[in-house]
Amino acid sequence: MSVVRGIPSSSATSKQSPGPADVAVIGGGVIGLTVAWRLAVAGRSVCVVDPTPGRGAAWVAAGMLAPVSEAHFGEEALIALTVAGAERWSVFAAELEEAAGTSIGYRRCGTLVVAADSGDLAVVEELLKLQHTLGLTAERLTGGECRQLEPALTPGVRGGIHAPKDHQVDNRLLMGALLTACIRGGVSFVADEGAEIVLTADGARVVGTRLTGGGILAAGTVVVAAGCRSSLLAGVPEGVIPPIRPVKGQVLRLGGSATAPLLGRTVRGIAHGDACYLVPRLDGTVVLGATVEERGYDTTVQAGAVYELLRAARSLVPGITELTLLETRAGLRPGSPDNAPFVGPAGPDGLVLATGHYRNGILLAPITADAVTGWLGHGAVPEAMSRFTPGRTDATPVL
Ligand SMILES: Cc1cc2nc3c(=O)[nH]c(=O)nc-3n(C[C@H](O)[C@H](O)[C@H](O)COP(=O)(O)OP(=O)(O)OC[C@H]3O[C@@H](n4cnc5c(N)ncnc54)[C@H](O)[C@@H]3O)c2cc1C
Repeated sequence: MSVVRGIPSSSATSKQSPGPADVAVIGGGVIGLTVAWRLAVAGRSVCVVDPTPGRGAAWVAAGMLAPVSEAHFGEEALIALTVAGAERWSVFAAELEEAAGTSIGYRRCGTLVVAADSGDLAVVEELLKLQHTLGLTAERLTGGECRQLEPALTPGVRGGIHAPKDHQVDNRLLMGALLTACIRGGVSFVADEGAEIVLTADGARVVGTRLTGGGILAAGTVVVAAGCRSSLLAGVPEGVIPPIRPVKGQVLRLGGSATAPLLGRTVRGIAHGDACYLVPRLDGTVVLGATVEERGYDTTVQAGAVYELLRAARSLVPGITELTLLETRAGLRPGSPDNAPFVGPAGPDGLVLATGHYRNGILLAPITADAVTGWLGHGAVPEAMSRFTPGRTDATPVL
């Protein structure tokens, strides 16, 4: 099997309707592929429906596994879930690397959150209070201590937080490895879109999914993992699939030296009120992100967004302007009303949701797959995930 930029090309992806499967997974993004692989490992026959598996938002993303630096006020239950999700990563990464036979660039490198001026430092100190209230591991550093850890930081850096347990994975290597593990595990693929969930005449249970190209993929269980397009699927009564919306994020990829990398760990920061992050890969690439925009399904890249990201990043790490501009790209996070995912059975028998992971889909992929395999009777549902079922009533919008 050949691998191009992390994605294996394989004859395993077919345009034709396959035979019936135990489980049809609609969407081959990071959530759908992780669920499919783990279900196949549990002995289920699984078919993934996706015109472009291995892409989606996770292809654009930064790959931070960062419950501590990503903590937000008012999201305490979600933070507990992300902490549990992060704890799952080390074993998951080892199992996936073994199954796929490739590295996924999982780095236990920690994260530094830094402030450019005194206003930014006040925001960082509020974050530290929240982290300590929740018992998260985070240490306040002076500007000088930040620079000792990361000498490329500007001499003017005012201070920051060290979050030693916030790690990262190379999201593109991850997606390639998931595809390989799925194919090796016997998962089949249909290069088409699921248009509609097909139910029995009485609407009591699912019998499969109708494909946009025609035909029905018969399956006793259908997992909806179509990212920001999950709510567009027809066939189930209104409200069964909660509202998931696209939240645009623009990102740059910058090329640097693998032997003399600019940064040794993820640096997140606030520069005169503008937030950004810099995620260094082992090959010298630095991922610089990201905007957060409500612009529907638009994935164009705006010059202004690129400028603002570069301006904020240069205020914190001046040397980034010496790197090569490799790529600019926009992706769509699957946003939910309360920024938390919906994972578990919903509506008719056999329908399972695994969607709405918003800004934490990579971090939460392993624990989501554990939950789905648990719901389908092949293990326990992780306690931290059990309150994020589709039927929950407290998914009120975060203002
Ligand atoms: C800029 C940016 C940075 C991010 N950084 C991070 C990060 O650092 N850490 C982190 O944990 N998360 C991060 N995220 C969030 C993360 O990428 C998402 O939460 C995650 O990708 C969601 O996974 P998913 O599989 O649900 O959706 P996606 O990854 O979007 O995949 C959905 C898949 O469904 C397919 N699909 C859609 N409709 C259909 C249909 N009808 N039939 C069949 N297939 C369909 C699509 O082709 C796609 O392949 C980031 C996202 C963005 C945009």
